[in-house]
Amino acid sequence: MDHRHTAGLRPRPTLATGAATGGLTPDAAPRRPSPAPRPSVMQAPVLVLNATFEPINVTAVRRALVLMLKGVAQAEETSHAEVHSTSRAVQVPSVIRLLSYRHIPQQSRALSRKNILLRDRNTCQFCGRAFPASELTLDHVMPRSRGGRSSWENLVACCYTCNNRKGDRTPEEAGIKLQRRPRPFTLHTSRQLMRLIGHRDEKWRKYLFY
Ligand SMILES: [Zn+2]
Repeated sequence: MDHRHTAGLRPRPTLATGAATGGLTPDAAPRRPSPAPRPSVMQAPVLVLNATFEPINVTAVRRALVLMLKGVAQAEETSHAEVHSTSRAVQVPSVIRLLSYRHIPQQSRALSRKNILLRDRNTCQFCGRAFPASELTLDHVMPRSRGGRSSWENLVACCYTCNNRKGDRTPEEAGIKLQRRPRPFTLHTSRQLMRLIGHRDEKWRKYLFY
């Protein structure tokens, strides 16, 4: 993960904006459990399910605990780690479920650099080579100067070499070939992104793999 948060800062949701949790607005900082656990525990990804058990988002442990404390969500799966408040120990959630159903409009799904790189599996869509995220940029297939939009259909992962070669031209003009047409965002994409983020967490499997 790119972002390092110091204790006390609210971590960003891993996959999507707050809007993708169904319009849940950012909360005031929760009464922080003390002693503060290691930041890495609080930033671990948590799968968020709708009331219907449909996977809708990925967030961080800290945010998941806030939702649980507010009575908005409950833990469906927990990890072995615990966080301690003054009065009790709480098992760190791995999967939470919203207690009331949220309608999630499709267009609120987050378009972000991180999600585009995930969709393209950190692979430059022109030369087909995989790179660390730090060595990739986003390329507008149809350049912005020609009215190309910043959308799932027009943004691809691109290495700096290919990005320089392409410049402000279309792939055809630059004589380079797009490996495949960028896929629009669908529920399938969403689930695939969640699988990629959660591939190490066995407890996510039954909600994502079927
Ligand atoms: Zn490349």
